[in-house]
Amino acid sequence: MVVYLVGAGPGDPELITLKAIRVLERADVVVYDRLAGEEILGYAPEDAKLIYVGKKAGEHHKTQDEINRILVEEGKKHETVVRLKGGDPFVFGRGGEELLALREAGVEAKVIPGVTSAVGVPTSAGLPVTHRGVATSFTVVTGHEDPTKPEKQVHWDYRADTLIILMGVGNVRENMREIMKHRPPETPVCVIERGTTEDERVILGTLEDIAEKDLRPPGIIVVGEVVNVYREIRWSQG
Ligand code: SAH
Repeated sequence: MVVYLVGAGPGDPELITLKAIRVLERADVVVYDRLAGEEILGYAPEDAKLIYVGKKAGEHHKTQDEINRILVEEGKKHETVVRLKGGDPFVFGRGGEELLALREAGVEAKVIPGVTSAVGVPTSAGLPVTHRGVATSFTVVTGHEDPTKPEKQVHWDYRADTLIILMGVGNVRENMREIMKHRPPETPVCVIERGTTEDERVILGTLEDIAEKDLRPPGIIVVGEVVNVYREIRWSQG
């Protein structure tokens, strides 16, 4: 009777942890969103119940309250329930809300971290998010703040050397405009789409011109001088 909130990693099915695989292998139920690497579901037993709670084009998708209710219900009925999420469950994954809902309902819950796309995707592409003499800090921020929130929490005046923006590709023009209020327009920018998968694409530009390029979500946006280090690393590979 335990619900595990499990990080699946950024996409490549080999970037999941051993701990996550071990719990998946004995799962009675797996509750999952759209994953970059669906093969990971193959670790679950054949007779495990798979419940998809992500978005599907043209169909009603489950609200967070509905998802919480499913987790509580399944958690009360089954020995092992896995709530599988892309990347790390607590990085923009609403894992904290699910954990609170489970605790409030008296259902035992545990968390297994995952490789977050925020760092795993740039690293896998050869883009260091910190670099000696170039960047001593990074900030991870959402580029898609809940539009129903009464007050904005994202102000874009972050001091970190590297900015890593998740969920920001759909809104890239507006996001870059906001950042240009605090950083020069020629600041280098790198967009990595579908990182760690076979469909990975890397697009380079600046704060001023990146929105003009052909960009397709999901992707992460990296802003800062580390993008020039990436260029150097890429060139040195020949
Ligand atoms: N919990 C996840 C993030 C969920 S928010 C994590 O820790 O990675 C979803 C956003 O993550 C996407 O909009 C995109 O910005 C980013 N993302 C997730 N997987 C990605 C991938 N393989 N390549 C690029 N961006 C990715």
